[in-house]
Amino acid sequence: MPNKALKLYDPQIYELIRQEKTRQSGCLRLIPSENYVSKAVMEATGSCLTNKYAEGYPGKRYYEGQQVTDLIETVAIERGKKIFNAEHCNVQAYSGSVANLAAYNGLIKPGDTIMGLSLTDGGHLTHGWKVSITSRIYNAVYYKVRPDTGRMDYNEIEDLAKKYKPKLIISGATAYPREIDFEIFGSIAKKVGAYHVSDIAHISGLVVAGIHKSPVPYSDVVSTTTHKTLRGPRGGMLLSKAEHAERIDRAVFPGQQGGPHMHTMAAIAVALAEADTPEFIAYANQIVKNSKRLAEKLMEYGFNLVSGGTDNHLILIDLRNKGISGKKYAKALDRARIVSNYNTVPGDTAPPANPSGLRMGTPAITSRGMKEDEMDIIASFMNRVAENIDNENEIEQIGKEVLLLCSRFPIPEHFIIQSKES
Ligand SMILES: *Cc1c(COP(=O)(O)O)cnc(C)c1O
Repeated sequence: MPNKALKLYDPQIYELIRQEKTRQSGCLRLIPSENYVSKAVMEATGSCLTNKYAEGYPGKRYYEGQQVTDLIETVAIERGKKIFNAEHCNVQAYSGSVANLAAYNGLIKPGDTIMGLSLTDGGHLTHGWKVSITSRIYNAVYYKVRPDTGRMDYNEIEDLAKKYKPKLIISGATAYPREIDFEIFGSIAKKVGAYHVSDIAHISGLVVAGIHKSPVPYSDVVSTTTHKTLRGPRGGMLLSKAEHAERIDRAVFPGQQGGPHMHTMAAIAVALAEADTPEFIAYANQIVKNSKRLAEKLMEYGFNLVSGGTDNHLILIDLRNKGISGKKYAKALDRARIVSNYNTVPGDTAPPANPSGLRMGTPAITSRGMKEDEMDIIASFMNRVAENIDNENEIEQIGKEVLLLCSRFPIPEHFIIQSKES
């Protein structure tokens, strides 16, 4: 019986975890950065490796007793290098945010200029946004997407790079529904003598599956989380050219972190093996098929989508024509068991705390096995919520129908990805 000790020792936390499990099962999780991990990943995450300190790197540790941890980290590194076709891989960063900070710290000095996508246009906090430590350490400047198309304008980005002369350019986003041309970013960075760091936190699963072109050949460093489309435990990973290997490793440890989370690292290794299978490639392709279908249907219901659609796992709805704020819509959807997040849209005049957009994505519902037919149903639910935004009875009714749909797609806590050999 799983969690028996927890139930006995700490019934309060046991009960809260049980409630969260029920919640994750009984709603449509459309937050594009969330997923469901496999049973194998979950087991590695909950293993005895959480007991071990392993400061340093394989063969160069500061504590003894590393007979096993050295092997685990080496396996994780080798799998990461293989799957991303990278010269160097670091699997110690605690999460995506610190992976980004380590990428910058490894390559440039405090006070240097970094240039990333503005948070209000889909960039991440750690790309130099005002409230992030990255903007206090570095001189942060931003590029934006075109408000008319919702897309990056590479000519404009090049002009800004020539104007600001950043030491480091960040490509990658947290709320951008289109494929990013990392090759152009690489060439812009070269022209102005900047390092190119690409942040594929959201899309690394799509990159591994070959759906989006890999940034690895065009970047000095590639940063990613391991828990979004890659479907591993919460963690971070850095891939780099061999010439930057030592600087990146030193920036992570001892530059920023102490002991790595060995349980997470083992689970990352498991997730990387899972991602190296035909099943995962099929999964990643289905994520995008689902996202495109959902986008199409939403547009049929009169929703305006930023950039007019999607190339990836996420959709950004511009709600201004619907006269509903992002927050009001997100909260109503949540009451109907459809979980998303409110988000700014390009050119938004509303404040980030109550913006005009809604961000959603398909990685988690695709892990449950949902396909195009279910996307049609979800779009109709979303339309009904928008049309009945102040009608609690109808929202409750939609919630019941969502629960019924969810019950047909049990959460994949026991799904097992076949290994390549088997
Ligand atoms: C999610 C995300 C991160 C940060 O990841 P955390 O694990 O939440 O720290 C960094 N960059 C981008 C683009 C992201 O979407």
